[in-house]
Amino acid sequence: MKKLKTDILILGSGGAGLFAALHAHQRDPKLSITVAVKGLLGKCGCTRMVQGGYNVALAEGDSVERHFMDTIEGGKWLPDQELAWTLVSVAVERIHELENELGCFFDRNPDGTVHQKAFAGQTFDRTVHKGDLTGIEIINRLAEQVWARGINRLEEHRAVEFIKNSSGDALAGVLMIDMRSGEFVLVQAQAVLLATGGGPTMYKFHTPSGDKTCDGMAMALRAGLTLRDMEMVQFHPTGLIAGAHTRITGTIIEEGLRGSGGYLLNGAGERFMGNYDPRGERATRDIVSRGMYEEMRAGRVGPRGGLYITMRHLDSAMVRRMFKGMVERCADCGFDLVSGLVDVVPTAHYMMGGVAFATDCTTDLPGLFVAGEDSGGVHGANRLGGNGVANSTVFGGIAGDAMPQWVKANGEFHEPDPHVIDAAVACCRAPLARPAGDLNAIREALYEAMWDDVGIVRDAASLQRAAGKLDELEARLDSAGVESGDHPEQHHVAFHLGEHLERLDGVRRHHASDDLIFGRIGGVRQDLGQVGGWLRGAVAVDDLAVGDAEHPCAKIRPVALEGCQAAGRRHQDVLHDVLRVARPACAGISDQGGTN
Ligand SMILES: Cc1cc2nc3c(=O)[nH]c(=O)nc-3n(C[C@H](O)[C@H](O)[C@H](O)COP(=O)(O)OP(=O)(O)OC[C@H]3O[C@@H](n4cnc5c(N)ncnc54)[C@H](O)[C@@H]3O)c2cc1C
Repeated sequence: MKKLKTDILILGSGGAGLFAALHAHQRDPKLSITVAVKGLLGKCGCTRMVQGGYNVALAEGDSVERHFMDTIEGGKWLPDQELAWTLVSVAVERIHELENELGCFFDRNPDGTVHQKAFAGQTFDRTVHKGDLTGIEIINRLAEQVWARGINRLEEHRAVEFIKNSSGDALAGVLMIDMRSGEFVLVQAQAVLLATGGGPTMYKFHTPSGDKTCDGMAMALRAGLTLRDMEMVQFHPTGLIAGAHTRITGTIIEEGLRGSGGYLLNGAGERFMGNYDPRGERATRDIVSRGMYEEMRAGRVGPRGGLYITMRHLDSAMVRRMFKGMVERCADCGFDLVSGLVDVVPTAHYMMGGVAFATDCTTDLPGLFVAGEDSGGVHGANRLGGNGVANSTVFGGIAGDAMPQWVKANGEFHEPDPHVIDAAVACCRAPLARPAGDLNAIREALYEAMWDDVGIVRDAASLQRAAGKLDELEARLDSAGVESGDHPEQHHVAFHLGEHLERLDGVRRHHASDDLIFGRIGGVRQDLGQVGGWLRGAVAVDDLAVGDAEHPCAKIRPVALEGCQAAGRRHQDVLHDVLRVARPACAGISDQGGTN
């Protein structure tokens, strides 16, 4: 087995990973820093795919307090308020860094100020963007700077297991597979950042890049770390329906279309969002996706089984100018975004849940840091569009600042436990000893089970059904092998089969949490009522922890509302807001009870 040593190891090269690398290098250029990534640096992950833009309070009339309250309300009062405050306040610093230090060009107004567009669920137009393909601008500039600094790269390396020391109380390194050669690689490090970007790619319709399969969360769970908010999966309203033959189906066209006045229509050509929320198409993603799902369940669909978005009532020059990338993408799929109808369906987009962490990105395992979509707690029950890339760059930078300090104060190279390495290698190799199975059929069945029974709307019966299907899929997976071919090591077990395994890991956790957490997912747990669940959750529940992979367990703790005071809101006002929404479906919760 190949062995490497580096002071700081960063897993993933999205906004979180690359920002961490740059900040860590800036803090201490003498440290050796290595970015290990499943794809090619700068070419994989979802930060590159960011379309709409980056939320930050810059303009006159806006404020970080306002951004904070939009984030808290959009997240149904469930975001961790310290984390949310860190997000909105450091975003201001980060956007200036992106522009002035890293060289990003964002769109500007005629007077030279940064142009900020409308996104759903926001009380102020605050989404900074580069046309409608913002992520390419951000990730290209970040990657250039990482290359320029000579930071080490391990590309096409897949992390498969955290390796602790023999006493199990410290992180020694990470086991990886070099996906080009199939060779196992052990990287010892003093500090490790987990930034593999989550990714709900276990649903029939999903948006994230195919390299994201919840690997990091599965590794963290196996290492005994707490995951939180795992039942919170975001569905983006406007996933394209481009036919069963193409992976374009499920990928999104951006939220700014609704923000700029786009209409959603059902199969009969009627606008319907007004029936679900007074904000119509500009309600938050969770509400719009559920409204769409209700229309679909009522059979009010188009011939392709979905609904439509249209911009044809708007100024066509504006649509062409502001949404050039979206117009071209739709045209590639045979749709006319400017003057026609585009078939859309809600699609799994983002995991609000992830590894529990502190505002300095530390976790419960000394030496392990987490940032970006692998982390949980920033967004509560629903992430606002534009807060995702802000999250990964804000916390990636913070982790990059924190790790060199940690290395200086506590860092050492621990001796990895050889038994843990052997067990992980054996697990990766196991499928080679079995007759080849039809992995794609298992994956397709998983997509269907997740979409039908653990999707936008769930209830106790559907979750029970899903549990049975997942047990059956797991049994099939356990007996399905992969062909070793000429190169026994080059089997890409981790890439192919492991991907499925880890999805199932994610699914199992997901199911366990859905079953155990009773209140706060009322928005999706149909049997628990639309609003009541959330607010019961918001008042009573803050943290869901799923235990180890073998014995998942859930814990709850009260929501802390104090952070809202930092935004200039009195505690009582905040509480009354919560109760105002909660009351219709949540009789019995008193003001007194709500503060607990
Ligand atoms: C189509 C699309 C559009 C979006 N638009 C917006 C938007 O307009 N505004 C917004 O705020 N957010 C948007 N988002 C969300 C946003 O992209 C993410 O929230 C954010 O970029 C995540 O950053 P990250 O660094 O955590 O992960 P990513 O950028 O996804 O990076 C994860 C990295 O980890 C690597 N990796 C994965 N597994 C392993 C492994 N086992 N070993 C090693 N490396 C691994 C991947 O290859 C990748 O390099 C969008 C997402 C999608 C999919």
